[in-house]
Parts: sequence; structure tokens; C-alpha cells
Amino acid sequence: MSRIIGIDLGTTNSVVSVMEGDSPVVIPAKEGSHTVPSMVGFSRRGERLVGPLAKRQAATNPEGTLYAIKRLIGRKRDDPNVDEAARTCAYKIVAAGNGDAQCQVGDLVISPEELSSAILGYLKEIAEEFLGESVSDAVITVPAYFDDAQRQATRDAGRIAGLNVLRILNEPTAASLSYGVFDEECTGQIIAVYDLGGGTFDVSILRLSEGVFEVLATAGDTFLGGEDFDRRIIEWLAKEFKADCGIDVLEDRLAVQRLKEAAEKAKCELSRETSTEIQLPFLATTEKGPAHLSRTLTRETFEDLVMDLVKKTHGPCEEALEMAGLSAAEIDDVLLVGGQTRTPLVQQIVEQIFSREPNRGVNPDEVVGKGAAIQAGILCGDVKEIVLLDVTPLSLGVEIRGGGFVKMIDRGATVPCRRTRIFTTTADNQSKVEVHVLQGERELASANKSLARFELVGIPPAPRGTPQVEVAFDIDSNGIASVSAKDISTGLEQQVVVTPTSGLTPEEIEDAIEQAEAYRTEDRDRIAAKRAKGKLQALLETNEKTFKEFHSLLDEARREKVEETFLACKKALGADDGEDVAQALESLSEISRILTEVALFDPA
Ligand code: AMP
Repeated sequence: MSRIIGIDLGTTNSVVSVMEGDSPVVIPAKEGSHTVPSMVGFSRRGERLVGPLAKRQAATNPEGTLYAIKRLIGRKRDDPNVDEAARTCAYKIVAAGNGDAQCQVGDLVISPEELSSAILGYLKEIAEEFLGESVSDAVITVPAYFDDAQRQATRDAGRIAGLNVLRILNEPTAASLSYGVFDEECTGQIIAVYDLGGGTFDVSILRLSEGVFEVLATAGDTFLGGEDFDRRIIEWLAKEFKADCGIDVLEDRLAVQRLKEAAEKAKCELSRETSTEIQLPFLATTEKGPAHLSRTLTRETFEDLVMDLVKKTHGPCEEALEMAGLSAAEIDDVLLVGGQTRTPLVQQIVEQIFSREPNRGVNPDEVVGKGAAIQAGILCGDVKEIVLLDVTPLSLGVEIRGGGFVKMIDRGATVPCRRTRIFTTTADNQSKVEVHVLQGERELASANKSLARFELVGIPPAPRGTPQVEVAFDIDSNGIASVSAKDISTGLEQQVVVTPTSGLTPEEIEDAIEQAEAYRTEDRDRIAAKRAKGKLQALLETNEKTFKEFHSLLDEARREKVEETFLACKKALGADDGEDVAQALESLSEISRILTEVALFDPA
């Protein structure tokens, strides 16, 4: 059986892990780092860049570099949160035909699912290189607070990347697995997982018993995270800069990208230092010449800028405690997850909320990814069986006449779960009823998130109110909902026409899989071409050195041949033709043989 990988698909960074023996290990990325930037870029030459390469081009090509994609996945373009993202990010966010948010780079319009699939594909490749075998199965984590559309979209992204997604696992549950599975002392504990990452915040309360990890409550905000902290610094810098030289740099996408990088760097430094210098030379040009930005940001000012953001996490914590029926004093330990929890102010507020010092023993960047690997280990039988009892973060229900919303599965219900309800007709001889499935907490249907519309067709003619159609709602262990229907009078399963109101259609997914395959081939060819060039460059340098030393031992004809070959190699290195590189390598091998011969027979 091939190995199952665990993936933490983060807003800012992603992590891939696997079980090695009894422990989960994070698979190092190609550059040795344990995290991969969750970014996809399209270079001006039309190449697709993923991870570190995309991050590298962000400063020079902000419109072509897509980040924080997780904030868009499974959302509509007219979602106010997406509006906010579109207002502040450097790339364009547009609406698809069904209203879904999509990204645009030049003429290319691309869905968040496809972009996430590029990141997942990159992680898959890293894992395959590390393990030396192909990988097809994965567990992927999502914020506990992700709704159905966001979960479905994440699973689709996995499919597009060529991954069979065995489980969509909630991030806090993954964190609790890392924390508690191998430590017997944790048995019987009630823990809080406070997860503040790049783009989302969630908090969960879990009871860890022998063999059962039960989520008691979960709450959060899918649009609160480190990106917002960065934004506050960017806005502060822009304001100070405007006061200095009168220029609004927020209008200039290139400048904003530079501010963004500087802001994040400063924010991270302020987790260790009490003040930091931000220098951005040539940020803009005025009539008097170039204008440079130079500012000192103290931890105190930074804390003022982000205080309301940190305090915003208080509400969901209270909510989760209330849902779990617990007081803060009953929590045995608080785990900090997500890079943004490194900010000292966040740790202070967490301490205030839970009246106890949070646990600093877990690595906030790796704990979720490792938990995903442990879940993978459980699925393939390498790790002892643990029953995970998760809860649904949001209520699921249907629209009723007059635009109201009736809940069928309440938030906080333990999943997997199933509820049924009888529907009937409102007119005589009505042959079909439409069921509009929604997720959310508002009483007004239109204020909740539309998941799907069902048409129950073929109802036999009958006076209104007589037919009985039993509609069943299921939420599986991935937190993904599905609906089925049965006509009670005939006992037959009714035909259910499901029209998802968001996400990619099956055809679009198939297209995306083909595209991704094409990209993979292109990526592979590019990597092979790069490697061939690297080899040619190294071989050329060695031969040039040897030639410099021993050229006098060659006759005129061979000297010319060597020089011609060197020239051809340099030409091949400067161009983009794989054939030329292969040819140059071959000719150079011949030269190498000649030079080695003369060097070996050097009379000196
Ligand atoms: P995650 O989604 O868990 O990868 O968290 C990423 C977020 O954590 C980003 O907004 C980072 O800027 C932020 N982050 C990472 N390291 C630090 C640090 N040392 N101090 C403050 N924030 C950090």
C-alpha cells in the first residue's frame, strides 16, 4: 500500500507530513524549509510558478502573484469578505458565471480550486521525492469553521492535483491528535485549541479520552488572520509616507507588494524585539526626485494597530466555552496553533481569556500538518485507532415559504450525523417541490449560505398537503453534507436533481484535471531543462578551467574545436531550446574526453 500523506493547506504556508515509524515527520521542501508558501504565480513569460518561486517574483510582479487563496475558496465574489480582499490585494478577483470568486491574471481567469491544486500538487511532488515513491492518497486539513462549500472546494482541489482525498480533517482536531495521541498524560484532559493562522481564526474545545477525541465545541472567523495584521502595518506605513511626501502609495500595486513584504517581516521581528526598522528606498517618485520610506515601528505602536483584531478572537472563545458548557477554569491546557500566535500580544490575550498560560511546547507551524499525518496513519492502520468525534460548525437547513430558514441539523451536532424531515406540496397535483439547502445561523434564508437546490420531481398527482416526501440530510466525517429524498407513499426513492450553487461542476473539474496534468508535464519538462542547463553550466566551467591550463598541449585544429564547442554551449545556455542543450552536452562530453586525455599526459 502506498503511503498516505497529511497536508496542512494554509492561507500563508502549507506543510506536508508523513508517518515515519511511530512519529509524524514534516517533509522538508526542496530548499530545506519545513513550510511552503501557499502562492501561485504566472511569470511575464507565461510560466506557472508555485511556492517559493511564486513568492520570489511577488515583489516584481504583484498582479501575477496569487496569495491567500484559501480566503477565496468556496466563496462568492459578492461575499463582503471577498470584497474586502479584492480591495486590498494586488491581484484581481472576478466573478465566475455562477458568482464564485475567481482570480484573474491578464487574460487568464482561474478558480481558487485550481490554484490550491497547484499548491497541493507541489506538496505531492515534494513528498514523492522524499519518499522515493508515488503518492496518491492524502488527508487534508481545513479550518473547523469552514462551511460545506469551502470543504467541497478543498476536496475538489485535491482531486485536480491527482490526490485521492481520504479525509478532510479539521485543523484543531489535527492539532489535538499531534498533542495527545502519543502522550498518555493527556488522557482525560479538556483542551482548547486557539488557531490564528494567516487568514483564519478558529477555536475548539476538545475532550481527550482513551481512544476517543471528542470536539465539544468550535467557533471562529474565517476572515481573521495574519494577513489582517500585515494590512494594518501597510496602512500605517502608507499614512506616514503620505504625511511625509504627499504620495498615496496604496495606489501603486508594486509599492504595496513591497510594503506587504516589509510589513510581514516587521511583524515577525516584533515577536522577538521591542522595535524594528523598516527601510524601503525608492518607494515612489516625487517632483523632487525619489522618495524613500524609513520608519521605526515599536511593539507598542504595532500592538495599538492590531489590538482590535486580537480582541476579536475573544467572542468566539466565549462562544465555544458556552457551547461546550464549560468555564475557562475547566480547561486543562490551551494549545497555540498558527504562526500568528507567535505575537506576544496574542499570547497575552489568550492568557486573559483562559486565565492560564498557553502551552508553548508545540510548534505552531507544524502541529496541524503532523496531526494530518497521524490521521493518515490511523486510516492505514499504522497508528492505534482513535475515534474522532467532530462537530458541525454551522447549522444546516432549508428555506421555507416566506423566505425563512428552518434548521435540520443544529450547529455543534456531532458528525457524522443524519436527520430526516417530511416535506409536502402546497398546491393540488403539484408534481415537484424545490428544496433550497442552506448553511448558517440566521433566520432569514437569504442571509445564510446557499449550498444546493433540489427538485424532487415525479410526485404523483394528489391534493396539496397529501404527498409525503422524506428528505434526509447527512453530514459525513469530512463535515461534507449530502441530501437524499424518498416518496413515502410509493416507498420509492425520488429522483433528486442537485444543483450545487457554488464550486466547480463535474465537467469543470475534469477540465481542470486535464489542465493540471498539462501543467505537471510542463513543470516536469521545465525542471528537466533547468537540470540539464545546470549540468551543462557546471561541465562547461570545469572544461574551461582545464582548457585554460592545458590549451598549449593541443594542436590548432583541436583548440579550435574546443573553442567552437564552448561557444555553442554558451549559446545553448542563453536560449530556451532543450535540443540545443542536449546537443551541447554531448559535444562537451567529447571535449571533456580530449581535455582529460591531454591533462593526464601532461609531461609536466
Ligand atoms: P499559518 O497560516 O499558520 O502558516 O500562519 C501564517 C501567519 O503567521 C502569517 O500571517 C505569518 O506572517 C504569521 N507569522 C509567522 N511567523 C510569525 C512570527 N514569528 N510572529 C508573528 N507572526 C508570524
